[in-house]
Amino acid sequence: MERLQKVLAEAGVASRRKCEEIITAGRVQVNGETVKELGVKVDAAQDEITVDGRSIRMEQKVYLLLNKPKGVITSASDPAGRKVVSDFLPGVKERVYPVGRLDYDTEGLLLLTNDGEFANLLTHPKHHVPRTYLATVKGTPHGSQLELLQKGVKLEDGMTAPAEVDYHDVNPDKNETTVKITIYEGRNRQVRRMFESISFPVIKLRRIQFGPIALLGVPRGKYRHLSPQEIKELR
Ligand code: URA
Repeated sequence: MERLQKVLAEAGVASRRKCEEIITAGRVQVNGETVKELGVKVDAAQDEITVDGRSIRMEQKVYLLLNKPKGVITSASDPAGRKVVSDFLPGVKERVYPVGRLDYDTEGLLLLTNDGEFANLLTHPKHHVPRTYLATVKGTPHGSQLELLQKGVKLEDGMTAPAEVDYHDVNPDKNETTVKITIYEGRNRQVRRMFESISFPVIKLRRIQFGPIALLGVPRGKYRHLSPQEIKELR
């Protein structure tokens, strides 16, 4: 038996706190009875639980790592008909949601799961999960410019937290430099905006690591299941 708000959060209804509000607002029924108190315990496999009259589905939890290609939307569907991440998950019957987002033009590591609570936990700003990217820019930023990114730069939504920044590959023939950067926040287009702030717009961006999970070994456009050990390490 588990607390009702935990079961709702795990089913992907909302964060646990939001689920508490949904319960106290009288929107949840268990076996036909409205439950407004917190702390009620339910059997997720046996009890019929509804939110606003709709049954919540308890599915097997799946945790996936997709190597998202560029030119793909981090979303389950797109009214404009562009490619979406679910197009790259053949054989996955569960309805999974991305853990955070990658831009249309960003490629690399994207986690997907139907465990709503897990996804909320990992993307919550207080969690500071490290995310590592390879950012390719035209030209070569000076060490002192990378140091600015390391210390924190001012963006329109505030200063960025300290980051780890290093040269990954300097390619004078192509006049391009790839910088490895680890950030501890997940703001919208953050890496691109950080590089724009030092006047080196990103021409290619790939996420290679999310917390303890590395992209290595998963070909572009393919996915794999996380191991139980990886899921444990992420929590
Ligand atoms: N930072 C970006 O700018 N884009 C992404 O997709 C992820 C991080």
